[in-house]
Amino acid sequence: MSPEEFRKAGHQVVDWLADYLADPTQYPVLSRNQPGQLIDALPPSGPEAGEAWDQIFQDFERHVVPAVTHWNHPGFMAYFANTASPPGILGEMLAAGLNTNGILWKSSPAVTELEQVALSWLRQWMGLTDEWFGVIHDTASTGVMHALAAARQAVAPEIRSTGQSAPLTVYCSEQAHSSVEKGALAIGVGQPNVRKIAVDSAFRMRADLLEQAIEEDLGAGKKPFCIVPTVGTTATASIDPVRECAKLAQRYCLWLHVDAAYAGSAAVAPDYHWLLDGAEQADSLITNPHKWLVTPVDLSVLYTRRPEVLRAAFSLIPEYLRTAENPRALNYMEYGIPLGRRFRALKLWFILRTYGRQKLTEMIREQISWAAELSKQVEADPNFELAAPQMLSVVCLRYKGTDEENRAILDRVNATGEIFLSHASLHGRYVIRVAIGNLGTTRATVQRAWELIQQSALL
Ligand code: PLP
Repeated sequence: MSPEEFRKAGHQVVDWLADYLADPTQYPVLSRNQPGQLIDALPPSGPEAGEAWDQIFQDFERHVVPAVTHWNHPGFMAYFANTASPPGILGEMLAAGLNTNGILWKSSPAVTELEQVALSWLRQWMGLTDEWFGVIHDTASTGVMHALAAARQAVAPEIRSTGQSAPLTVYCSEQAHSSVEKGALAIGVGQPNVRKIAVDSAFRMRADLLEQAIEEDLGAGKKPFCIVPTVGTTATASIDPVRECAKLAQRYCLWLHVDAAYAGSAAVAPDYHWLLDGAEQADSLITNPHKWLVTPVDLSVLYTRRPEVLRAAFSLIPEYLRTAENPRALNYMEYGIPLGRRFRALKLWFILRTYGRQKLTEMIREQISWAAELSKQVEADPNFELAAPQMLSVVCLRYKGTDEENRAILDRVNATGEIFLSHASLHGRYVIRVAIGNLGTTRATVQRAWELIQQSALL
């Protein structure tokens, strides 16, 4: 592609994206493709000779777009919704164009220093002090694996030289995201040593049972090393008692990692700082701008107050990557597994500047208020019940019937193409989950989701 051909194709793509963003509802939110349909529509092998861009783009529209589930659709209320905001998309475009790789400060000062700046701004908005060091990961799942490795380094530093330690145990609630367990598995903590603590009636980890489990494990000769409370659990957005977890972490000398992948963004709003109450004592914390802060996937932030421990766990510098020491030249490769580093910070910096804290705060407050309104409507409807206290922008509800009836309601709503909802299992029961988080979602979209749920229950 010559620069002129690139310019022409680039304009075409930007025009296409502008039309798409102007009205994503022109597509069904949930792809109607059958499994394998896209694979079958494309040739089994790549072309020997290069093809014309127009042809390729036509196939993108004809075959790829129908296979897309539209996370940018205002009716996307499944899992945790997210948005590719225009400044975020522009940041991705420029990052791809520059293709600069922050393996070291020297290999791209912009990648390293913009990451430091953007993460410092975000941290301040979240009410975290300047003790906190941030590093961007692709996902919270990768980030928690790094946090657990740092926790292990803190509690069992011998692991780095011997590869061995007493059996380590980690604690999270039974509502914690599966990434905690996966991260533990990845660093060699056996599955039975991931202790899932029972929750109270509001789906919050029970601190009394946490303490009991730690005592039991100590008695059994195991080595507790980390507690992972969640602020904003995946199913119900419940908030674990972080301050009580912090007290136990301190008493037993354990690492405290806070999973605020979803709800951390809400702490950008000054009236939601309380969400991180107790987290100021944590050793590490994760928040995902690619969940609720209008940032296109992927961008998750791991913050830690003990960067030296993270570094001790991961630093390994081969000769060809050795550079002159300079306290202002940070080499992120020393703080984790990845060497190659995408310029993800650019999109975050664009977003923070474009919206400012005010606009992001407004969005979060509004979305929470629509969830609160919906939860009242659910309570007022004799056919439905709230399946969990409404927290933040998540509403878990249930038709007062069987699991099959609830599943059928969800399927009917999703078949409309207007709204996409997902489900959860609470107390062994199937629950419909409405998770508001897309920048394009309005009060009317949420009300439409409720109308469709109610209508689907009558069919
Ligand atoms: N933590 C929580 C509370 C989540 O809800 C999720 C995903 O939804 C994750 C972690 C994992 O996030 P990621 O997809 O960035 O790995």
